[in-house]
Amino acid sequence: CGVADKEGAAGRIPFSAEMFPPKGQLTLDAARKVVEGLRAASPDFISVTCSAGGSGNGSGGQTAAIAELVQKEAAIPAVAHFTCVSATRASVDDAVEDLRAADVKTVLALRGDLVDGQQPADFRYACELIPRLKEAELCVGAAAYPEGHIDCLDPRENIRHLRAKQDAGADFFITQLFFNNDDFYRFREAAESAGVTAPISCGIMPFLGKSQIQRMVFLCGSSLPAPIIKLLAKYEDDPASLRQAGIEYACNQLVDLGRHGVDGLHVYAMNQPDIACAAAEAVAAAGLR
Ligand code: FAD
Repeated sequence: CGVADKEGAAGRIPFSAEMFPPKGQLTLDAARKVVEGLRAASPDFISVTCSAGGSGNGSGGQTAAIAELVQKEAAIPAVAHFTCVSATRASVDDAVEDLRAADVKTVLALRGDLVDGQQPADFRYACELIPRLKEAELCVGAAAYPEGHIDCLDPRENIRHLRAKQDAGADFFITQLFFNNDDFYRFREAAESAGVTAPISCGIMPFLGKSQIQRMVFLCGSSLPAPIIKLLAKYEDDPASLRQAGIEYACNQLVDLGRHGVDGLHVYAMNQPDIACAAAEAVAAAGLR
């Protein structure tokens, strides 16, 4: 499963970026621009998010089409996110067929989040989706939570659920964003002790502004270390400097993770290719790729 290899070329850490299907009518044209920008960062793969609603391969069905575009036009392997919480067995089969037609061979199997009052259909957890995707001969990744998932307060249970995804067939993991690398190092140790051997790529998102960071912290339950709070206060009235400080903080995190021999570096680039390029440059300057 190509994107999941633990060892890249000698001394090289796999580096990847996430994008989301742009909103609006000319989605594919807008996506093409993002992909062209991300290409400058030479990622080993680009992952494309999907919405949790609808067919389970959501965002108006654009995930497979954009993943196809990434592979065909930019010649970069794509990972299509695949949510299941509102999916039925039939809709999952349809989405698998869409991926097959688009020649996408790697997916990130996710539960997704239910909107208020919705009930799960045929799949309650990602670990129930993974076997179906493996049956379809896909390479399958899953989500990992260094600080625990927001609905799972017990760290040991968090690790058990991670292991369950590996046991269900997950070939690799990508983490939720975190701002304190020590949280990841502790998590990696716990995962290893629990027999998790699949590579775990570190998902890093720069903070760009106060409202973005508040949203992410409430959505993901990630904690904000004191240095970030100080930067948010320092640049309260200077959004450009705050953005720059956020990108620099993320670059430093990535370099430190690389030096600690993590399995992969994954940048939440939020459709802003300069973020991925800055990250790729920092990692290269540190001799890690
Ligand atoms: P699961 O692994 O199913 O876990 C969900 C919750 O249930 C957790 O609290 C877990 O601890 C618990 N749990 C798991 N198994 C069991 C069990 N057997 N019994 C009891 N409890 C259990 N969302 C999107 O909508 N679209 C995306 O494209 C997207 N991309 C993402 C990419 C990454 C790298 C990450 C980390 C998250 C992404 N998400 C995305 C968000 C994700 O959908 C949410 O975090 C969601 O709440 C959980 O998804 P999961 O696959 O981790 O769920």
